[in-house]
Amino acid sequence: MAQSLATMRAAPSFDRRACSSLGASSRTAPATITAMRTTGRGGTRRSGPLRAAANDRERVPDQDKNSHYYSESAAGPPELDTLLDVYLAKTRANAAADAARSALEHDDPSTSSSPSSPSAAPNTGKVYLIGTGPGDPGLLTLKAYHLMQTADVVLYDRLVSPQILNLVSKDSTMLYVGKQSGYHTRTQDEIEAMMLAFAANGATIVRLKGGDPLVFGRGGEEMEALAANGHEVRIVPGVTAAAGVGSELGIPLTHRGVATSVRLLTGHLREGAAAEASDGKGNGVGDAVDFAVTSADLDTTLVVYMGLGTLPRLAQKLVDSGFPTDTPAVAVERGTTVRERRVFSTIADLPESVVTCGLKSPTLLIVGATVRLSPWWPWRDEAGDAVSPPADSNTAVYDLQEGLPSEDTSAWFVENSGSLRKLREMGPGTKGEPAEEGDLSPAR
Ligand code: SAH
Repeated sequence: MAQSLATMRAAPSFDRRACSSLGASSRTAPATITAMRTTGRGGTRRSGPLRAAANDRERVPDQDKNSHYYSESAAGPPELDTLLDVYLAKTRANAAADAARSALEHDDPSTSSSPSSPSAAPNTGKVYLIGTGPGDPGLLTLKAYHLMQTADVVLYDRLVSPQILNLVSKDSTMLYVGKQSGYHTRTQDEIEAMMLAFAANGATIVRLKGGDPLVFGRGGEEMEALAANGHEVRIVPGVTAAAGVGSELGIPLTHRGVATSVRLLTGHLREGAAAEASDGKGNGVGDAVDFAVTSADLDTTLVVYMGLGTLPRLAQKLVDSGFPTDTPAVAVERGTTVRERRVFSTIADLPESVVTCGLKSPTLLIVGATVRLSPWWPWRDEAGDAVSPPADSNTAVYDLQEGLPSEDTSAWFVENSGSLRKLREMGPGTKGEPAEEGDLSPAR
């Protein structure tokens, strides 16, 4: 591991001033506007009854170009070894200050050590795998928030939104471990080695994952790698994209008389899965689309993660296997964030529609009769009942909608900063100790 650590690089400490501009300008109440919608046929724009903050785009740090959370200097990030040295120096200084303070107060310094984790080796830090939900900070759990306020080291990647990263304690060391084209890309092995290195030095580590940490997020692999090295991993569930994005849009993933089950699928398998399957290894699934289609039925809502690339093939195969061409479908980009864009269509027309609208990752696909139950489903008869879109053999029929289907909760947090302060004071105040330790289920 020492070798791989020497070659690993970590993100520089970032400038927190970006966060203060968010707080300052969002003090004004969000204006109610009508969200823009574009109808595929003819591309006409019409307004809908959706609410969104008019100036959201200005005050939210741009996730692609302008966020300190995701950018690295041209020289690249510092070596991990350097970062570990900085972290240890800071820890030693804090420990010396604590010891001096407790000597003054006639406290027993030994009481500051962690009382839990009887199996953990001395000086072994705790590792938390935390789901942060699909992007809306309001969908964070209190447990996640508390740990983000008390962690020594926070590892995060691009699926975690800046609004959520703004809620991490200013005292935590933040390490960006995502991929950014043109810069160093961290492998899964490096990420796991980083967590092990900090844990071995006694740090409380929080690994933030978008959605739920154990749904298509490789959190399971990180859990296994840490456990194999003797580290107890604690998991904090998060709202997975299917639940967050679907529910917020009023798409019941199950509905009496419409869908008796829901399937969470990936449109994309890891490299080597096809070869493994043909050798009879792994779980035998070599093609994500074939698997999705064999497990599909009309009573089931299909939710496809990472499915944009394989959508044309998925749609064709579903139709070939007997799905009606007008089966309702929606693609949602950056769901639950102020930059949400969604394209309602049918399974036959969705592939062309997402290309026309330029949808990019992260995008979630939902296919099935329940999609039509959404209040945002655009095609209705005179009585207001949902109907299929008018068929057009020449162009794909779709409806592009932009903006949050619900309130922008980042504004709530600013308005309710008193409650946030209360949350910060939650718990015994020891770094890394959750308020209700027994609630955090160990991984094994
Ligand atoms: N662990 C995550 C999933 C990680 S896989 C979870 O439980 O949600 C990454 C994929 O999740 C993306 O490619 C996209 O398909 C989906 N996804 C995650 N967040 C999303 C969001 N806010 N909007 C749309 N899709 C999202």
